[in-house]
Amino acid sequence: MGEMNETTRQWLDWDARHCWHPFTDQAAWCAPEHERLVIERGQGVWLWDSEGRRYFDGNSSIWTNIHGHGHPHLRSAALAQLDQVAHTSYLGFANPRASELAARLCALFPPQTLTRVFFSDDGSTAVECAVKMALQYRMQTGEPERTGLVAFHNGYHGDTMGAASLGGVSLFFERFRQFGMPVTFVRDLSELQQLRADQIAAVILEPLIQGVNQMSLWPAGMLRELRAWCDATGVQLILDEVMTGFGRTGAMFACHHEQVVPDLLCLAKGLTAGYSPLAATLTRETIYRAFEGQENVFYYGHSYTAHQLGCAMALANLEIFAQERVLERVQALQPEWQRNLESVFSPHLVRVCGMIAGIELRQPDGSAFPSERKIGAAVCLAARAHGLLTRPIRDTVVLMPPLSSTREELLFAIEALRRAVADVLGC
Ligand SMILES: *Cc1c(COP(=O)(O)O)cnc(C)c1O
Repeated sequence: MGEMNETTRQWLDWDARHCWHPFTDQAAWCAPEHERLVIERGQGVWLWDSEGRRYFDGNSSIWTNIHGHGHPHLRSAALAQLDQVAHTSYLGFANPRASELAARLCALFPPQTLTRVFFSDDGSTAVECAVKMALQYRMQTGEPERTGLVAFHNGYHGDTMGAASLGGVSLFFERFRQFGMPVTFVRDLSELQQLRADQIAAVILEPLIQGVNQMSLWPAGMLRELRAWCDATGVQLILDEVMTGFGRTGAMFACHHEQVVPDLLCLAKGLTAGYSPLAATLTRETIYRAFEGQENVFYYGHSYTAHQLGCAMALANLEIFAQERVLERVQALQPEWQRNLESVFSPHLVRVCGMIAGIELRQPDGSAFPSERKIGAAVCLAARAHGLLTRPIRDTVVLMPPLSSTREELLFAIEALRRAVADVLGC
């Protein structure tokens, strides 16, 4: 550890002795040559580390933040809720914030489509919940043989055991494959259409874009075609909008781009604008009805289900979308954002979906870098010196700014990344 203040040193010492970070090689994380940042404070799109250095939050704090940090409306909603109560049991009691939030979420979809909301804690539990609903629904509607689950190759749906079973990224999930649920993986719609549909309960998809799969885009129209296949076969469509929800793609939800309504919808990350962990699984009245009666109860829930403070944050999130006309602002900024990314980073591969961007770094001849060079990680490390924090997925650098970013802030982020790429690749 080089020059740093005493408090930073203390935090890092505790971190090295007692903490364990997600998806992290702890030996490399704690190695003396690796500089660990302690993020202490945020305002708007900016974060400050414990040494007082400022950075643009280039991946919206792992894809969660929507309106920037320290937003006054979210702050006052949190304080007002804490003056009431932080959390009460949803097992046996209703609560005001969850009631209102459920109604407002359903109102974001055409009437009589998604009418019911089941709350949980994060993306993985929203997915677990959807899968359990889809399976139990068949047992209670006379189709117990429909136990099959289908997911897409290279998809990502979270890390709890059930959600991980649906994951198609082998690096993360291969180790636990034998312990999880049986899942059939397909690469595309044509492979899906070859399966025997009458034994399938549900298919799960990240609509428009697979985030963890280096921001890969689905072809336009794919989602609508998948919906049509589900309608024809009776297979339920689970959409995982944990990443794409809440304006990221330029519409409130990715499924709105193709006027598709799923049978089950998973929401988390941006649901509270990134202020508190909360998730929701939305579904249709027909599915909900199959769970009526003592013998059909959905035995699922968590201690923090429908957390009042979390629900208050989610309501404030939706209010900001309306008050600040966030979608209109984003739609106005998006074309220039995409143009700039494509012109600054070509001939690297640039994939953009709304305000989500993946820049896949390539050699001058267009080939991929050898993975052991860890070019993506090197560029993100270099970006810190230019005031940008983000993370790569392999050699794809993610730029997913908070939706509150101004034109100038977006230009700052692109310029910082351009310099980092130049530092590492020399051009
Ligand atoms: C992040 C993510 C998840 C998992 O959410 P957690 O809150 O990390 O459990 C699931 N699906 C998608 C598409 C995600 O991006």
